[in-house]
Amino acid sequence: MPRRKKEPEEVQKKTRKRPEKKLDVEELLEEYLDEVVDGLRLSNLGLPRDMYYEILREPFFGAVGEVKTKPKARTIINRLNNVKRDLFDYIAVRITRELDHLNKEQLDFAAQYVNRGIVEVASKLYREAIRLNATENLEFLRSTWRLNGINSPVSCPKCGFNSVMPDGICMVCGKEVSESEIKRQLNIISKLRELKIEDPEAYREIVSSNYFYYVDNRIIPPSRVKHEEGRLRFEIVLTKRDREELEGLSS
Ligand SMILES: [Zn+2]
Repeated sequence: MPRRKKEPEEVQKKTRKRPEKKLDVEELLEEYLDEVVDGLRLSNLGLPRDMYYEILREPFFGAVGEVKTKPKARTIINRLNNVKRDLFDYIAVRITRELDHLNKEQLDFAAQYVNRGIVEVASKLYREAIRLNATENLEFLRSTWRLNGINSPVSCPKCGFNSVMPDGICMVCGKEVSESEIKRQLNIISKLRELKIEDPEAYREIVSSNYFYYVDNRIIPPSRVKHEEGRLRFEIVLTKRDREELEGLSS
């Protein structure tokens, strides 16, 4: 059955009523990608184009925002530059996570710009820095770890990061650090001697129970430890030798 032919007027009405065309942000990124990569000075990372696209997709969408008219590439680049610190931290994490190996330029970038993402990528960046014999990057990473990592009072004898966790394992290089090394670094004998004078009751409890906790630079007897979340709590057991040393020095 032949369909009723639309009147010209009706067609026109329909055209006028059409929903406003939404800006296609995917298309826009495709168009602006090279300019954005250059504008943010990311071209020396030498990533494949589709990787730049994937990594920049979310930040780019955020920078474009809810607009109906097409923004200029420069406007978007400026917005991204305004959040450079977080953006580059994010890019540093992504490239470290997604590339099997980093070249020197990529490692330099990641080491320089990783910030809050350090916990996630320190281990791989350490391995890559060792592989590329890039000790200058390691120095930088160690200080970023101190600021934004899980800063431990015990530093690792192998990698030099302050990253030995209460289980004795280094979070960055995986080394198992001995209890005696942990005790030496925490300086427990002299701290216990101080405690004996400052808080004899706590000291007596530790000597009789034979263990204590070390939290936030303080020695805490078992009965007083609070199970605080997010704190590094080292459980220290006194050996016969520790006790002898304590008694010898304190008598
Ligand atoms: Zn280590």
